[in-house]
Amino acid sequence: MGVPFLDLKAQFATIKDEVLSAVGRVFDDQAFVLGKYVEDFEKDAAAYLGVKHAVGVSNGSDALLLSLMAADIGPGDEVIVPSFTFFATAGAVARLGATPVFCDVEEDSFNIDVASAKSKVTDKTKAIIPVDLYGQCADMEGVMNLAREHDLVVVEDTAQAFGATRNGKQAGTFSHFGTYSFYPTKNLGGAGDGGMVVSNDDALADKIRLLRVHGERPRYHNKVVGICGRLDSLQAVVLQIKLKKLDEWNKHRAEIAEQYNARFEGKLKTPPVSAGNSHIYHQYTLRVENRDAVATQLAEKAIGCGVYYPVPLHLQECFASQGGKKGDLPVSEKLCETALSLPVFDQMTDAQVNEVADALLKAVA
Ligand SMILES: *Cc1c(COP(=O)(O)O)cnc(C)c1O
Repeated sequence: MGVPFLDLKAQFATIKDEVLSAVGRVFDDQAFVLGKYVEDFEKDAAAYLGVKHAVGVSNGSDALLLSLMAADIGPGDEVIVPSFTFFATAGAVARLGATPVFCDVEEDSFNIDVASAKSKVTDKTKAIIPVDLYGQCADMEGVMNLAREHDLVVVEDTAQAFGATRNGKQAGTFSHFGTYSFYPTKNLGGAGDGGMVVSNDDALADKIRLLRVHGERPRYHNKVVGICGRLDSLQAVVLQIKLKKLDEWNKHRAEIAEQYNARFEGKLKTPPVSAGNSHIYHQYTLRVENRDAVATQLAEKAIGCGVYYPVPLHLQECFASQGGKKGDLPVSEKLCETALSLPVFDQMTDAQVNEVADALLKAVA
């Protein structure tokens, strides 16, 4: 039969009428950028996360960029970033003329290894970006202790973990900034690009609001050089509807992960959940030997799977001038060869979960 890696159509069917009528209201109003729809969503998101300020922005990459801009990161500064993450985490640093300094990750959690991060601190280090990869929090106590020790700004890249918690606290709310992506495939996904920055600090949140509109205040009077980083009303109304369903959807993802775990226990390296964390399984990711051959076998049976990520950032061509070489960050390098993500989506059926599990167990046998 085959199972797609991601199927958003079945989920959309459950909210179609509500979404289309909300989208219709935005068209009737012809109010497409920022404004009351975005403010309403920001209020709901802040309340959900238990954070003082939520600022809707253009996408998750700009959420990172704006946070670093608000922290005055620039040329000569170093920012510590895990090598095993999506490119945007480091790209935002480089775009400001600062240097992303790569550290390793923990093999079990896939998240930042605080000891490795600590070993990368120099007198130029200004910030650190832990990533809540695949849907569970990084060691945020460890990161915050390191940050306090060295007076670092912390930007939590929460693009993959909206709604995950650590010791009861929402992902993205541990540090100066939390950044989110609403790219359609994320667990809270819009109908196009979107993102958000959250903060409990009044001054920092205000700076994000200023920077997202070219530093204009009032109109056509530019206090600082910002970017065009606004969120659309259409995204806001869609996200507001989906936010109400998020807990239910995240719960279903976790149930799928439990079913996979039960099928793979003792046979494969299933993804452990770190102490204190609730995992929302943006991705269900295993570590398998001969990963590429296994992925090919799954593809032959029309089972979707994903490789996040095939190349560690310290070995990316665009960062070659920094002199990163093979062997520098062994865990990140190994995970790039072994990580394999299986289908997880709301409305996935038990039969689909079992079909994927059967195919994978056969492929690794
Ligand atoms: C998706 C993602 C981003 C970027 O989000 P966009 O909305 O696509 O710009 C940043 N960091 C991580 C870890 C992501 O997964």
